[in-house]
Amino acid sequence: MIPFNKPAFVGSEKQHILDILGSGKISGDGAFGHQCQDWFVKTLGAPKTLLTPSCTHALEMAALLIDVQAGDEIIMPSYTFVSTANAFVLRGAKIVFVDVDPDTMNINADLIEAAITDKTKAIVPVHYAGVGCDMDKIMQLAERYQLYVIEDAAQGMMSTFKQKMLGTIGHLGAYSFHETKNYTSGGEGGLLIINDTQFIERAEIIREKGTNRSQFFRGMVDKYTWTDIGSSYLPSELQCAYLWGQLENAEIINQDRLNSWQHYAQNMTHLQEQGHIVCPHIPEHRQHNAHMFYIKVADLQQRTALLKFLKQKDIGAVFHYVPLHSSPFGLKHCSFNGEDKYTTAESEKLIRLPLWYGITEDEITYICEMIYKYFDEN
Ligand SMILES: *Cc1c(COP(=O)(O)O)cnc(C)c1O
Repeated sequence: MIPFNKPAFVGSEKQHILDILGSGKISGDGAFGHQCQDWFVKTLGAPKTLLTPSCTHALEMAALLIDVQAGDEIIMPSYTFVSTANAFVLRGAKIVFVDVDPDTMNINADLIEAAITDKTKAIVPVHYAGVGCDMDKIMQLAERYQLYVIEDAAQGMMSTFKQKMLGTIGHLGAYSFHETKNYTSGGEGGLLIINDTQFIERAEIIREKGTNRSQFFRGMVDKYTWTDIGSSYLPSELQCAYLWGQLENAEIINQDRLNSWQHYAQNMTHLQEQGHIVCPHIPEHRQHNAHMFYIKVADLQQRTALLKFLKQKDIGAVFHYVPLHSSPFGLKHCSFNGEDKYTTAESEKLIRLPLWYGITEDEITYICEMIYKYFDEN
């Protein structure tokens, strides 16, 4: 069986975890946590980064930081993971969805302006498959209408838009280190990227249960106390130790994935030329991170048949998001601005193929051969 995903594991993670187990300090914000955050500050060129237990938590922190109030509207694509929306719904916001661009499955930046009202508080672009949204247009709109931009870059670590790392362009950004993402902190984890420095101090307080504990440890205040709302948004040192093993090898992991992605792309060219499938399109000014190799087939019926065929061939191919506006919660509490021209139709065509750190060329070749075989026979 070729599984859809295997969590990235390079090898050095093991020793780091053993080291931390013997250190007598395994709670959050220890040596590995700080080392990881420093790496991100340096690599991203962001003023501040904070590790979180998940990307979901980083997004929740972002919603707290921009002070979302009941009735505020947040604009995002419907083709995304539930946490993108839930983080804001938890604060009483209303989610307004906008259609995607079928080329990238990212929010269509040209449709955002029509969805802006005087209640709009933020735009949340999601960089699907680690391919950047049109951040120039989104940042221009945000400036014109005084909105915040929170990048859901859960899938986007190591990708860029116009040489800028995804997650560093909006006011705030979020990464995921879930085991299905390119880099993991041992199954679950995330990062809040703070690009607008006005948020730094409060972010540390919210993350530390609403206390000024971080300032206390830096000797900036003489006792630590409850100063704001907050929660517990720290990952343990065990997670950070695993993550450090991945960050040390960030380039190796990235290159390996890019090679695999390229191998898929080369193998699939012919099928695309024959008009059977559509392969991912990377628009100009983007460097992607090979988070995902997907193909699009004719329709839902063909997708179901091909997935079944691949399963019989021991290939763990999967579909992806059911658009949020058509979910039971979305139908009741969210709205879709404009026409759903592509979100539903395109999401029904999409198949994600196995891709992980260490997948072999032989495995990819076999997967591609089986897809060719399907189209030969059908
Ligand atoms: C994975 C993912 C998330 C959630 O990440 P967690 O770390 O599992 O909370 C949010 N948004 C997008 C787009 C994702 O792909």
